[in-house]
Amino acid sequence: MITPNMNYANLKDSYLFYNISQKVKAYQQEHPDAHLYRMGIGDVSLPLCDAVIKALHEAVDDQADAVRFHGYMPECGAPVLRETIAAYYGSRGIALSPEDVFVSSGASDELGDILDLFDRGGSSLIIEPAYPAYVDANVIAGRKIIHLPSGRENGFLPEPGEDTVADLIYLCSPNNPTGAVFDREKLTKWVGFANAHESIILFDAAYEAFIDDPTLPRRIFEIPGAETCAIEICSLSKTAGFTGTRLGYTVIPKALKRNGMCLNDMWVRNRTTKTNGVSYIIQKGGAAVFTPEGQKQIHDNLRIYKNNAAVLMEALDRASVWYCGGKNSPYIWMRCPEGTDSWAFFDRLLNEIQVIGTPGAGFGACGEGYFRFSTFGNPEDTKEAARRLEALLK
Ligand code: PLP
Repeated sequence: MITPNMNYANLKDSYLFYNISQKVKAYQQEHPDAHLYRMGIGDVSLPLCDAVIKALHEAVDDQADAVRFHGYMPECGAPVLRETIAAYYGSRGIALSPEDVFVSSGASDELGDILDLFDRGGSSLIIEPAYPAYVDANVIAGRKIIHLPSGRENGFLPEPGEDTVADLIYLCSPNNPTGAVFDREKLTKWVGFANAHESIILFDAAYEAFIDDPTLPRRIFEIPGAETCAIEICSLSKTAGFTGTRLGYTVIPKALKRNGMCLNDMWVRNRTTKTNGVSYIIQKGGAAVFTPEGQKQIHDNLRIYKNNAAVLMEALDRASVWYCGGKNSPYIWMRCPEGTDSWAFFDRLLNEIQVIGTPGAGFGACGEGYFRFSTFGNPEDTKEAARRLEALLK
């Protein structure tokens, strides 16, 4: 008899978004005419920008033409897109070779698949509260998880301590769910730790495009020494609205080696075995994001989300509520009112002001007592939700 991967039995039931949708459904059944202000799920609301749409149309036409038609794409990504992304890093002072860049179907796929590079007996350090996929991917892979709690005392950005041990270290900045962003000094400490202990940092840069403050690092490779201890996983989902279109990229510098093995070479071998590349059409659409026109258009869209964050932050400031995030990040992480746990606060917001957010407890035990708002909604709804929230909290 075949034995399935018994690690699946160790997964905790993921109640978070299921519970939210059940509660919302029940409310809607009782109040069919109520308008709901949805600031829960981190999905974008604006359509793809014109430059991307034009490139996608052209790519579809290419596939109808015997000369311009593309069959299988190179497994690690179209050379032109790998060059484009390397040049994008170059424009920020990071020297990469196109071979350091792997085109992917998005960050989620990579966050799970990348564990193929590491021994199953190793440990993964996950800062909590955390994006739930980090924990689940490691449970499925059978790796030991070291939970590093964070809180208000360290701005939800802990540093490595004397007793920190981990083979693989997950860092996410700007962070989901807390919106906290590592500064150069703290990231330098993690890079120093990883090099000293021969660990590897998995840096999730899915929200890098939300960083406006030029003193904050957008990329782990802005930190000297990161090329020998880090892998960066990035996505066009939030940067350019590709949540439903699917495109991301992973950077593994050739200089990253452990036990005499080059992780870049290993990932080439992995991709050429396990994938047949990302669709030509999507890669052509993705390349348009990096053109001057595409960059201008995506930043016009990002400005709308950033304004949403500003509107919500002003309301929380007027109500004297503690929060972090919102600046350089699309998430706002607020303290629930004294004595209210995060699910009770969820119920109160839904029932009293029809605003939907995400209870902090869903991101790990130390998220209890906090609440996450996503700022990817439409501006009118965000303004009204902010007005209602302020009135409720004052
Ligand atoms: N990483 C973080 C921190 C996220 O919040 C998300 C999506 O919400 C992802 C990765 C997944 O991104 P993708 O859509 O590229 O799979």
